[in-house]
Amino acid sequence: MRIARYDDNRFGIVDGDDVIDVTSALAALPAQSYPFPRTDILIENLEQLRPALQAAAKSRARRKLTDVKLLAPVANPGKIVAAPVNYKKHLDEARADAGIHHQQQVGEIQKVGLFLKATSSVIGAGETILIRHDERRNDHEIELAVVIGKKADRVSKADALNYVAGYCIGLDMTIRGPEERSLRKSLDTFTVLGPYFVTADEIGDPAGLDLVLTVDGEARQTANTRDLVLDVPTLISWASSFYTLHPGDVILSGTPEGVGPVVPGNTIRATISKVGTMDVKVGHI
Ligand code: MN
Repeated sequence: MRIARYDDNRFGIVDGDDVIDVTSALAALPAQSYPFPRTDILIENLEQLRPALQAAAKSRARRKLTDVKLLAPVANPGKIVAAPVNYKKHLDEARADAGIHHQQQVGEIQKVGLFLKATSSVIGAGETILIRHDERRNDHEIELAVVIGKKADRVSKADALNYVAGYCIGLDMTIRGPEERSLRKSLDTFTVLGPYFVTADEIGDPAGLDLVLTVDGEARQTANTRDLVLDVPTLISWASSFYTLHPGDVILSGTPEGVGPVVPGNTIRATISKVGTMDVKVGHI
C-alpha cells in the first residue's frame, strides 16, 4: 500500500499515477488530546486501518499525482535519526574533498555514531527546499528513509525489520561547514520525505534498492543500498540500543557518493527502486 499526504492534509492511496482520497477513513483513528503523544498515530495504527483505507479507495474519485501538492507522508515524526557517512565511497569522497570535510576528520560511522535532525526541517516533495545561506555550499544527499511502525527498544538485528512500517525517499539536505551536523542539516525544509509512504510488504528486503539523484537532469548520485556500511537492520538495532524508537520515527540510512551543491532554481529528481520518484524544487527563503 502507498499512502500520500497532500494539499490541505488530505490522505490518499496511490494507485499507479493516481491518488484516491481516503481521508474520511482516518476518522477511525483514536481521539487525542493535549498533551499529544510523540508518535505518528496514523503510522502507529496503520495495520488496523488498512482494511478501511482499502475499502475507501474503491469508491472514490481519482486525481493525478502530478496535480496535487505532496506533503511529507509522515506528518508527525517523533525524531529523525540519521546515519553519517554510511557508504564507503562517500567516506572516501568526503575525506578527499575539502569542500565537504572542512579540515575536520571524517570518521567511520561505527566511531561517529548517529545524529538527530530537527523534525521542523521536514517537508514533502511538493514543497520547496529553501536556501537561506547562499554564501555556503548547500548539498543534496539522497537516502533510503526507514519509517518505524512500532515501539522498538533494544531490538536484535534479526528482528529489526519487523519494526519497520515502510519506506520513502529521503533528502538529507546539508550545509557544508565546520559546525555540528545537527545544526547544518536541521534548517527548515532540509529534510524532504516523499513522494509517498510505501508499506514494508511492498519492499521486502531493503538491501538491493537502486538510488539515483539528478539535478536539472545532470547525474549526481547513483548507488545501491547493498553498499551500505551498516545495513537497515543494523541501524535499527544500534539506534534502539540507545533510545526507544516510536511509530513514525524516521531513520535516514545515509547517502552514497556523488553529493554536490544545489542553488535556487534547481530541480532535484530522486528515485529509489520499488519506492518511487520525486521532483523537488530548490528556492530561496
Ligand atoms: Mn546524510
